[in-house]
Amino acid sequence: MTEYLLIALALLGVLILGGLGLVVPRLRRRPEPPLPQTEVDTRAEEDLAGPPVEAPESELSTGILVEPPPVVEAPPVEVPEPTAGRLVRLRSRLSRSQNVFGKGLLGLLSRDHLDEDAWEEIEDSLITADVGIDATRDIVDRLRERTRVLGTRSATDLRTLLAAELVHALDPTLDRSLRTAPKEGVPAVVLVVGVNGAGKTTTCGKIARVLVADGRTVLLGAADTFRAAAADQLETWGGRVGAETVRGPEAADPASVAFDAVKRGIDTGVDTVLIDTAGRLQNKIGLMDELGKVKRVVEKHGPIDETLLILDATTGQNGLEQARVFTEAVNVTGVVLTKLDGTAKGGIVIAVQRKLGIPVKLVGLGEGKDDLAPFDPAQFVDALLGTEPLARDA
Ligand code: GDP
Repeated sequence: MTEYLLIALALLGVLILGGLGLVVPRLRRRPEPPLPQTEVDTRAEEDLAGPPVEAPESELSTGILVEPPPVVEAPPVEVPEPTAGRLVRLRSRLSRSQNVFGKGLLGLLSRDHLDEDAWEEIEDSLITADVGIDATRDIVDRLRERTRVLGTRSATDLRTLLAAELVHALDPTLDRSLRTAPKEGVPAVVLVVGVNGAGKTTTCGKIARVLVADGRTVLLGAADTFRAAAADQLETWGGRVGAETVRGPEAADPASVAFDAVKRGIDTGVDTVLIDTAGRLQNKIGLMDELGKVKRVVEKHGPIDETLLILDATTGQNGLEQARVFTEAVNVTGVVLTKLDGTAKGGIVIAVQRKLGIPVKLVGLGEGKDDLAPFDPAQFVDALLGTEPLARDA
């Protein structure tokens, strides 16, 4: 019996050990789960190429119709406002100056008795309005003389006399036309100069609109390569009226851009080429050299027809000093006074003409695209005084 028991125990032990032998090796040898094939293969490529680009589902596989890319159409070409009568339409923009001239001066003149003090006050008002000392003396002397000789007393007559003297100070006989017409198939070339910020680029754009409104074809030259945004700004202005803009690479030589613009204008047969320039004033010699070079290089194609100096009316007498630098560098043929809507010193028009001896041809009366008006002394004075043209002419 004991023998049987021993044999049974021995058999049980063998069975247990055998079972363990089968299980343990199986646990030890279980293989590492393999990495999915794609993960292994693409890892190195991803490091080099960045995240994979998703392949869009095809129209066939999704059954969804894919919209074709939108066609970008050029913006419609605008038809600018005609220039005739703009100064009259924009006269309310001179409201700040009107307070000084219309209300102030006319108020003083209509006093019962014009004694020395009154005349001095009239003089002060004109000087405050930036008319300039010399011009003010002339205007007041002539006004005193005429009121004395004519015995003028009524407010209406005094106003008529003042208007006449202001128009006289603005010299209505000056030629204010812009020389923008082509000659024998060659485009007229207009150079636009002035201190940065005076409104050169804006004015170039506005002039382009004026010319297009008058039926001309225009090309713009972005020779203000100093200010990065100037070429974009000019291109936008040109694009609106269908005018091409020639521009150079960033920080290109302004003279070479100006040269290319005129060449392109000749090749394409436009009527007028308008060239915007840079006006850095930090270095007078540098500015004069740069503008002198632009002028010389452009004149290889032929003479420049018009050189417009853009002056910011709000800078008053300081602006006049800066203006001289430009008149020394290039032959300025006309002045554009910008931002007259932003000053109470509309008298600067008189001072500019008198000091520079150059006619004011255009005036800027706002930031709007057609807020540029041909300058007319009589209309301007009427706008300053708040009078109607007929009342003065009567
Ligand atoms: P640039 O550096 O001389 O080319 O000057 P911009 O043409 O860039 O003009 C400078 C700023 O003056 C802009 O904000 C224009 O909108 C503004 N400007 C130009 N002309 C006039 C104007 O007649 N009236 C007013 N109020 N702003 C103007």
